[in-house]
Amino acid sequence: MEITSIINQIGNTPLIKLKQVSELTNCNIYGKAEYFNPGESVKDRAALFIVKNALEKKKIEKGGIIVEGTAGNTGIGLAVVCKEYGLNLKIVIPKTQSIEKKNILKKLGADLIEVDAVPYSNPNNYIKQSKKIADDLSKKHNHGVVWGNQFDNTVNTEAHIVTTANEIWSQTAGQVDGFTCAVGTGGTLAGVSIGLKNKNRNIKIALSDPMGSSLYSYVKNKKLESKGSSITEGIGTARITKNFEKAIIDDAFQTDDTEALRLVYDLIEKQNIILGGSSGINIAGAIKLAKKLGKRKTIVTILCDDGRRYASKIFNKEFLKSKNLPVPKWL
Ligand code: PMP
Repeated sequence: MEITSIINQIGNTPLIKLKQVSELTNCNIYGKAEYFNPGESVKDRAALFIVKNALEKKKIEKGGIIVEGTAGNTGIGLAVVCKEYGLNLKIVIPKTQSIEKKNILKKLGADLIEVDAVPYSNPNNYIKQSKKIADDLSKKHNHGVVWGNQFDNTVNTEAHIVTTANEIWSQTAGQVDGFTCAVGTGGTLAGVSIGLKNKNRNIKIALSDPMGSSLYSYVKNKKLESKGSSITEGIGTARITKNFEKAIIDDAFQTDDTEALRLVYDLIEKQNIILGGSSGINIAGAIKLAKKLGKRKTIVTILCDDGRRYASKIFNKEFLKSKNLPVPKWL
């Protein structure tokens, strides 16, 4: 592998055994450590595939503009990839996303447009605004303008079939019994479920959903209904995206923030691994899947990104207290 380009370092992330939760369940629970990617999240994979696809299909060339609506991580992945190919990047992000992610995006040279967080049904939703900006720009730009469209562009799913699923299969020597993760775009769950089921139909795939998302009820009883809310970022949704539509799902679990954050804090104390909230939802899902599948099974989940990306929230006593969330004793 060529090592001189940073984008060649996307993927092939380590698979780490999560000791505490493995002991608790008498299973082997592993986390795919996606914070090892250059943009430090699982979204580098989708970003790379989306940009490469646009270049290959000659929709864009050096000097062109990628436009995307993102909770932050896809934007950071795109910033890494765009720099490599000499592309410009315009990001539309909801104001509610962490200050840390927005600062990284600015440092990486992205043009950041912050908008109010409104549901997808509203025409001012960040995803819809990003499409409109891309459409407007494409009328007057001659190096190409591409809307990433990570939610409904299934190149996103393809990235995880080709890379994440194959890596999990070889890192477990084909001995994986179950996989679970949360859904933002659905690319990870769809791609890994398709990739693993292609190898072995018996591998159980479960959705790990935060509160406030409608997907748990959709998997359980085909109704898009939600209860509660979550401070986690990048996951949970009220609609079926083209990527999620492709996922092959056997089961679903729902986890609240208190349970997820306790797991995040526990992992810091026991294994010095610092993760964001969505990874806590994923690990909780892995425990629930392990309990359902029984002892001595191998379960894999995704460690989506680094907790320092949310320090102003999940390592901030005042913020946690204001949301009635657990405060670790060392904070
Ligand atoms: N966790 C975090 C922190 C994310 O930013 C995302 C992507 N928005 C996900 C999980 C979910 O990944 P996907 O988009 O592949 O469903």
